[in-house]
Amino acid sequence: MPTPPSSTDSPRGLAIAEAAAAVIPGGVNSSTRFIGAPYSFVAADGAYLTDADGRRYLDYHAAFGAILLGHNAPVVNDAIRAALDGVDLTGIGVTEAEVRLAQRIVEVIPSAESMIATMSGSEATAQAIRLARAVTDRDLIIKFQGGFHGWHDAVARNVISAPDRAYGRDPLSKGILDQAVDATLIAEFNDLESVEALFDAHRDRIAAVILEPIPHNVGALVPTTEFVEGLRKLTEQQGSLLIFDEVITGFRHALGGYQQVIGVTPDLTTFGKGMANGFPAGGVAGRRELMEHFNGRTGDVLMAGTFNGNPLGCAAALATIDYLAGHPEFYTRTHALGERMRTGLRGILAYLDIEATVVGFGGVFAVYFLAGPALGYRDLMRNDDAAYVAFHRGMTDRGFLMLPMSLKRNHISGSHTEEEVDRTLEAARDVLATLA
Ligand code: PLP
Repeated sequence: MPTPPSSTDSPRGLAIAEAAAAVIPGGVNSSTRFIGAPYSFVAADGAYLTDADGRRYLDYHAAFGAILLGHNAPVVNDAIRAALDGVDLTGIGVTEAEVRLAQRIVEVIPSAESMIATMSGSEATAQAIRLARAVTDRDLIIKFQGGFHGWHDAVARNVISAPDRAYGRDPLSKGILDQAVDATLIAEFNDLESVEALFDAHRDRIAAVILEPIPHNVGALVPTTEFVEGLRKLTEQQGSLLIFDEVITGFRHALGGYQQVIGVTPDLTTFGKGMANGFPAGGVAGRRELMEHFNGRTGDVLMAGTFNGNPLGCAAALATIDYLAGHPEFYTRTHALGERMRTGLRGILAYLDIEATVVGFGGVFAVYFLAGPALGYRDLMRNDDAAYVAFHRGMTDRGFLMLPMSLKRNHISGSHTEEEVDRTLEAARDVLATLA
């Protein structure tokens, strides 16, 4: 059973971390990758990760949700190996793989009539927001407290869990222009009135409403159907675009994304993460007349990227989506395992008399340490952040990798099994008992 990496029992992990700190600011390449101990993984296989000192972890972090089928899924890696024998990169024209990927997306995503490929989720949301501003000739966007849509200036605010920064005028970073911060308005998830109030206050200025259909960046706030239908109606009435950021929910919760589950069609959809099972790929899809603005010859919105639609990302994405299309049992299985986990956790929490709310959808689960229900971020202000982190830290120390940051969700991939879920529940019982 793993113990947390430390200077005494992780000589290799520590050496890598020290070398990293000397040449990489903070020792990691994305701010939230440092989790207070020298984690360095050297092998990945299905639901497991192995660190540099030989400890094996059952992985629920899943690279923030980019791992969907499981680590190093043979079907994806084989497709990449095959792609390595083809053309590498040309920067001119289009490949058959890019065409097949766009055809697949158009086929499976209800709102997609055409698609552009990007390399990441942030690029996808940046392009979608630029497009929305261009077609509406308006400047403001609305996002929801707690929703995360990437690192770029238009959306890097009001996404973190620390209650003292919630709702404030809080760019996550210095170096963002005031105008960019002011152009992003914040509403409350599952609260249509908060959105209506912003439309009232900023008449004819709102280009788009962007949302994670389930804000998984703060665990799992599951939307009411009335809320999402209300957003659809309101944006239509107001001449704004509705953008579903399905970077996490896409392909994970249903082949057609959460829009298929809830039956509401957005104008634009953004993808990333699980779409290529851990390899860099993303995209924007939507109605043809909107997407045509990206047309380099006849359109008016710049869309560029040397690595857009690159052969490896395309091969990985096609293999992942083809696999999902051919294996609908992926969804019944991960949903059943997610339900088993959530039910098990509820039972343990009730037995231990801990006030908590277990949330999630499909294979995603999280435990809010608050008295439920949890519908919007306002409810999450009551979350006991320390308990949340302690639970995840305790699980990770026992070999069940769960990001030890408050409000972070956990993912069950196509490689987790019932036996592993049950073993996770046994460990959760022990960890939660220490918090009771
Ligand atoms: N949208 C959502 C919902 C995300 O969770 C993320 C990343 O966490 C992004 C967009 C940005 O994607 P990327 O990190 O690939 O740029």
